[in-house]
Amino acid sequence: MRVLGPPVAAVSHAQLKLAVVLGGIKAHGGFQSFNSPLDVSALQQHLAHLILRVGIVRLVPDHFRQQGEGLILLLLIEQDVGQVILGLRVRGVRIELGVKFPRRIVQTEDGHPTFDITVSAVRPNAAVAIEVPANVQQAPPAPPVTVAVEKLADGVWYLSTPNARSWLVEFNDHVVLVEGMTGEARSLAINAEIAKLVPGKSLRYVINTHAHYDHAGGLRTYVAQGVTVVTHELNKPFFEKMWARPRTIAPDQLSKSPKPALFETVSDKKVMTDGTQTIELYHMRGTSHNVANMIVFMPRQGLVYWGDGYNPPAGNDPRDFGRTPEQSIDLYRVITANNLDVKTIAPAHGAGPKPFDNLKKAIGLVAP
Ligand SMILES: [Zn+2]
Repeated sequence: MRVLGPPVAAVSHAQLKLAVVLGGIKAHGGFQSFNSPLDVSALQQHLAHLILRVGIVRLVPDHFRQQGEGLILLLLIEQDVGQVILGLRVRGVRIELGVKFPRRIVQTEDGHPTFDITVSAVRPNAAVAIEVPANVQQAPPAPPVTVAVEKLADGVWYLSTPNARSWLVEFNDHVVLVEGMTGEARSLAINAEIAKLVPGKSLRYVINTHAHYDHAGGLRTYVAQGVTVVTHELNKPFFEKMWARPRTIAPDQLSKSPKPALFETVSDKKVMTDGTQTIELYHMRGTSHNVANMIVFMPRQGLVYWGDGYNPPAGNDPRDFGRTPEQSIDLYRVITANNLDVKTIAPAHGAGPKPFDNLKKAIGLVAP
């Protein structure tokens, strides 16, 4: 998520300086749930959180004069989904101690519900401090991206930036990148590394394992450069919709010279080969991580890449006590169901390439 502009200046604080007694908050998706009916700080935190996330704010001017239902529209930008509408719909605006305030606030992001607040009382002129956190105010500009290179096999490299690892695979007359992650700065740094590692061969395909932001945020750069995106067929309409959106706050290569994306899509399985180098893609049917999720397999080298769900920790113990193992079990299930002869797993996150036994230990099939 990008924090844009002066975070607070765009919002009128007059309407926020109220102590709001909450009757209840229902959170959707990734938002934290607050259940205390008297937790005033919850709404303050939430509003502060919203303000920090908003680039341009447009309040419906006479919103607070309405007695019925109102809608506040806010424009939110994310690195890879273009500009999306963050909406606050309010209902039941009532006057209490001379202040009009809605009794219900429903927030949507891009049309999807994310927050639902019921207000039971409002006190005007209460002491409320909404401060921009010091670490946000003093945040330095992002450092330049540096790419670490590790050879996995002949013609196969790990290209790693902090917590984001791609594969580069050399074919006879072109190269393939596995996963265009995070955003344009990383894609450009990866491109520079590709030019050094395999000079003279152009990047023809970028494989996308799934549409989560950290895995798909760098794809726009490749679309702008005419590189074909290889992804599951369910992702194509989503990406087309995202990439056609305007992007005027933080323009990138694609918004400066828009063009339609080139796709090759996968249903259950796809093989990419030139007779020497081979990449196989398998849909991870039934995984809880994402419905349109694929693993990447190189049969000759026994290498597997997965976007998420199995991020081997550093150290000798392969178990990750920070998460439950069902998605690692999904990976094992897809590997065995397709009879893949796996030697090494080199995933998108975690502590780097690990032997296949590491996964078996992580899910309890082999004693650690
Ligand atoms: Zn994911």
